[in-house]
Amino acid sequence: MNTHAETYDIAIIGAGPVGLALARALSAQGLRSVVLEKQSLDAIANPQADGRDIALTHLSRKILGEMGIWPAIPQGEVSPIVKAQVFNGGFDQHMDMHSDSEDALGFIVSNHLIRKAIYDSVAGDGNVTLLTDCTAKDIRIDAKGCHISLSSGGNLTAKLLVIADSRFSATRQQLGIPAAKHDFSKVMMVCRMTHELTHDNTARECFLYDGWTLAVLPLNSDENGGYRSSVVITANPERNKEIAALDADAFARWAEAKLQHRFGTMTLENTRHSYPLVATYAERFSGARWVLMGDAAVGMHPVTAHGFNFGLRGVQTLAESIKLAGGDPASPTALLRYDRQHRQATRPLYLATNGIVRLYTTDTPVAKVARNVLLKGANLLSPVKGVLMKKLMEAEKH
Ligand SMILES: Cc1cc2nc3c(=O)[nH]c(=O)nc-3n(C[C@H](O)[C@H](O)[C@H](O)COP(=O)(O)OP(=O)(O)OC[C@H]3O[C@@H](n4cnc5c(N)ncnc54)[C@H](O)[C@@H]3O)c2cc1C
Repeated sequence: MNTHAETYDIAIIGAGPVGLALARALSAQGLRSVVLEKQSLDAIANPQADGRDIALTHLSRKILGEMGIWPAIPQGEVSPIVKAQVFNGGFDQHMDMHSDSEDALGFIVSNHLIRKAIYDSVAGDGNVTLLTDCTAKDIRIDAKGCHISLSSGGNLTAKLLVIADSRFSATRQQLGIPAAKHDFSKVMMVCRMTHELTHDNTARECFLYDGWTLAVLPLNSDENGGYRSSVVITANPERNKEIAALDADAFARWAEAKLQHRFGTMTLENTRHSYPLVATYAERFSGARWVLMGDAAVGMHPVTAHGFNFGLRGVQTLAESIKLAGGDPASPTALLRYDRQHRQATRPLYLATNGIVRLYTTDTPVAKVARNVLLKGANLLSPVKGVLMKKLMEAEKH
């Protein structure tokens, strides 16, 4: 790694989990990628915990399995979600979701372990060149290829440019690709906590009437058999600052009370990380010799836990499209197929997620009633729940 030739099949901007997973998928077809990453090699090769515990669908597990990445994730760190409950206002009104089969609804894995397993899958791969501490200073696309001058010096050319440099993508902006942006004016704090009472392998999302949203996602027990969860707290920036300023004990007492002591005594296990909540959706996912991938294409609000799941799905769709085009990464037919299919797969849930967030974080009397009706309705009307369950448990692309 870290050497580069002049021409490649694909140039990928961003060595996040999606950019590297794409390099891996295309390498299996014998295609050569160069990946440009602004962070250091150490940050990419040894990713540190960032508080994100990622809920993976069955489809994502399957895709990672087919790429040989799933077995590299320590299986004791894969926590199954058996049941999910969504609460409205307090802890009375809720909708239940559970699988009728023996399968879990999904699996929780820490983001840094996913990133590490994906990085390891391309480290030492002769088809993948990683240039770290490096960005694209200038990008020019013409009929012959995509020409990039590097911040670290030198130039390279590729048949296809893949933009995978996050929802705040500088490359997307650089190329003038429009994207809708929705700033929720909220901040999401994530951390791990141990607790006295069981979580029953149930993921709980509580939309409280006082403007706070708390999610408690079940994790496997620690080595002493202690119960653990990933705790996700959404609030406006001022409130986020207030709880971020609490010391570990005061924060744990705050969380216990907010969760109405359902989990007994709680203890903060690691550091707290906060993320501003901004959703983005690009107007186009492809053009002549370029595609947008991962969060750079679809930056989901994390509440429905689909950002990375969609990213992996996009990787599979693009790899498949290129294969169908006889291995030509710049085939207009392949890029259009990816654009169309990925839009179809992501747009409905992107819009539904933003709608759900608006409804559940607005505390007008009308919104409160609508929330209750929706939850009761979803509990009673199996088709509504069926759609949600299908999305969570999807094992195949539709
Ligand atoms: C709190 C939280 C919880 C989440 N939970 C879930 C979940 O449960 N399930 C789920 O599916 N998803 C979840 N997500 C979403 C998931 O983390 C993202 O979808 C995923 O990280 C996207 O990967 P990516 O590779 O597209 O982008 P990123 O992870 O953002 O990686 C982008 C990479 O590009 C690099 N880069 C940026 N700019 C440049 C540049 N100019 N040049 C070169 N390199 C650049 C960055 O350094 C980075 O390495 C969650 C997100 C958050 C914030």
